[in-house]
Amino acid sequence: MNYQNIEFLTSAETPVQCPPDIGREVAFAGRSNAGKSSAINSLTGHKKLARTSKTPGRTQLMNFFVLDDEVGRIVDLPGYGYAKVSKAVQARWQENLDLYLRSRASLMAIVLIMDIRHPLKPFDLAMLDWSSSAGKDILILLTKADKLSRNAAQQTAAKVRATLKQRNVSATIVPFSSTESTGQNEAWAFLDTIFDV
Ligand code: GDP
Repeated sequence: MNYQNIEFLTSAETPVQCPPDIGREVAFAGRSNAGKSSAINSLTGHKKLARTSKTPGRTQLMNFFVLDDEVGRIVDLPGYGYAKVSKAVQARWQENLDLYLRSRASLMAIVLIMDIRHPLKPFDLAMLDWSSSAGKDILILLTKADKLSRNAAQQTAAKVRATLKQRNVSATIVPFSSTESTGQNEAWAFLDTIFDV
């Protein structure tokens, strides 16, 4: 599929504001600053696509993008732990995220973005356990892989793989770099399977 053929659809704070729950959707999740916007931009070949999620007032919204003549949607979930919002706002976002994850029938897969230097923080483990128990497919992008040697990146990937095995979670794990275009082919292959193209 041509992932460059993508357009912003809408933002939503709560599940009722989301677009109709039909077709196939893949949600990108991650801790704030992990590299989620950069990953979405690099996978779609757009420099500023995911920037919307960073504009003031939109940081706590789910941003929906429609792909290639409505083959599917990509959802940019708010970055977890965004420092500039209050605890109360974070708690409300957590509630909305839980609701979205539990109620969204078109949600087929989760792409979890983790900084390769700081993987598997509590938020990541919670997302993985939830996604796995809900039967969603999981792609883990270990971003900023260019910050480590190839060897160290592979070692981290192996550690993450071992932890997931212990927790009985199955996922595709890919070292990824938005700046050096590493891991894009594996990520596209995963998305192609989900969108059945
Ligand atoms: P988000 O908050 O998860 O959306 O994170 P961003 O995509 O905004 O990235 C956070 C910071 O990490 C920015 O300064 C990016 O330039 C940097 N960054 C993101 N991805 C990469 C990467 O693959 N390699 C390197 N070296 N830096 C990255």
